[in-house]
Amino acid sequence: MEPVSKSVYDVVIIGGGPAGSSLAIHLRRLGHSVLIVEKATFPRHHIGESMAGECARMLKSMGLGDYMESANYPQKKGVWVQGTKESSKFWVPVQNVDENGNVHPEKSFQVRRSEFDQKLLDTAIEHGAELIAAEVVNVVQDQGRIAGLKIRQGENQTTILRSKIVADASGQQCFLGRRGFLGEKSFTGYEKQVAFYTYAKKIERGAGQENGNTRLFYGGKDHWTWLIPFDDELTSLGVVVPLAEFKDSKLSKDEFFEQCTKSINPHFAQRLEQKELTTKVRMISNYSYEYEKLSGPGYLSVGDSHGFLDPIFSFGLLFALKEGQLGAKAINQSIESGDFALMTKYEGLIRNARDVSRLVINTFWQYPLAFLRLAHYSHANEIAALFSGKFFDPNVDDIDAVKLMRELMRKTEKTETGKAALKSA
Ligand SMILES: Cc1cc2nc3c(=O)[nH]c(=O)nc-3n(C[C@H](O)[C@H](O)[C@H](O)COP(=O)(O)OP(=O)(O)OC[C@H]3O[C@@H](n4cnc5c(N)ncnc54)[C@H](O)[C@@H]3O)c2cc1C
Repeated sequence: MEPVSKSVYDVVIIGGGPAGSSLAIHLRRLGHSVLIVEKATFPRHHIGESMAGECARMLKSMGLGDYMESANYPQKKGVWVQGTKESSKFWVPVQNVDENGNVHPEKSFQVRRSEFDQKLLDTAIEHGAELIAAEVVNVVQDQGRIAGLKIRQGENQTTILRSKIVADASGQQCFLGRRGFLGEKSFTGYEKQVAFYTYAKKIERGAGQENGNTRLFYGGKDHWTWLIPFDDELTSLGVVVPLAEFKDSKLSKDEFFEQCTKSINPHFAQRLEQKELTTKVRMISNYSYEYEKLSGPGYLSVGDSHGFLDPIFSFGLLFALKEGQLGAKAINQSIESGDFALMTKYEGLIRNARDVSRLVINTFWQYPLAFLRLAHYSHANEIAALFSGKFFDPNVDDIDAVKLMRELMRKTEKTETGKAALKSA
C-alpha cells in the first residue's frame, strides 16, 4: 500500500480523468486536502479529442497555457458541419467566454487524450493533490452520509479512506450512480446509438488553418461521422449510427465500419479515399444516460459520472473541466459553512447547462435546415457562443437562439403528443 498522508482528507476523488483532475486542481487552489484514487495505469487510451473554446481558456487559467501551445496538438479554429448536399454546410468558429460572460475569438485544441489526461493529472499532483493507484470498491457510510471509501490494491488488499466529501469522477463507470446514490437513471433518446472509431493516415482534412479543424458529416437522422485531427499525420475518424442497424447487418465491426464510411455522407467518403487505418476499429455503445441527482449527504458527482448525452458537438470535456471548477466552489462553500445543502445550488447550474446543450443537439437533429440557418446566418454568434461553452451563463435562457430553439422543440413535442394520441385512438 502506498502511503497516504492523512487519516481524513477534505475530499477524496474517484477517478483521475479530466473531471477528477480539474476538481482536484481547483480544490487545491482553495486550500483543501485532496486524494485522487485512480484504477487505470496512465497514460491510458480515451476517446474524446476535440475541445470546445471555453476549455482553452480554462486550461490557461489552470496554468496549462504554455503546455497546450508547445505540445503540438492540432489547433482548432472551428467546426464544419456538412450534410449530404453541398449546400447543407455550416461553420461554427471557436470562441471563448470570459468571466463576465462575454465572447471572444479563440482557438482550441484537438488533444491526444492519453497525453492530455496524464498532463492534467500531473498538474493536479503539482498543485499538491495526492494520487493513489487503486480501485474504489465501496463507500463507507457514517450516520446517514458518505464518509469515505473502501479501496482495493492488488488481489485482496483493501483499505478505508476517510473524507469530509467524496467526489465521484469515475466517468462512464458511474460509481455512485450504480450504487443508487444519484437516484433514477434515465435515458436520453441517444442511448440506442453506437460509435465506431479508429485512426488513419492520408485523410483529406484541408490545408493551412483548415488542417486542424473538426469536420462533422451527417446523413439521415442519427447517422453522422467525424474527422478530428490527431497529430500532423493521423486523424481520428468515427461513425455513429443506431445500434440496431449494426446488429441487423450481421457484419463484423470492421466490415460495418467500412460500409458506413461509404454510405453515410458522400463528402466524408471522398475525404477517406486514400485512407490507411493505423489501429483496429473500436466500438462504444451505452454511452448516453442521465442520473436524477448530482449530490447528497457527503458526496458530489462531476463529469460523465452522472450523465453524458451525445458526442456530436464535443461538449464532454467542457462539462468535465467546468464541473470540476464549479464543483470545487460548491464543496468549498459547503465545507466552510458546514451547510452541505449548498451543493444543490451546483446541481441547478449544471442541470440548466446540460439542458441547453441537449436543446442544441435535439434541435439540430429535429430541424437540421432550421439549425443551419440559425448557425450560419441569423444567429451565428449566439450559436458559436453556445458551442464554445456559454451553457454555464446564468442568463443563457435569455439568448434569442435558445428561445427560438425552445419554441421549435415545444412545437415538436406538441406534434409528437398529437401523433401519439392519434396512434392510440
Ligand atoms: C464516441 C465518443 C466520442 C467523444 N468525443 C468527444 C470529443 O470529441 N470531445 C469531447 O469534449 N468529448 C468527447 N466525448 C466525451 C468525453 O470523452 C467525456 O465526456 C470525458 O472523457 C469525461 O471525462 P471524465 O473525467 O468525466 O471521465 P473519464 O475521462 O472517463 O475519467 C474517469 C476516470 O475514472 C477512473 N475510474 C473509474 N472507476 C473507478 C474506480 N472504481 N476506482 C478508481 N478509478 C476509477 C477511470 O479509470 C478513468 O480514468 C466523447 C464520448 C464518446 C462516447
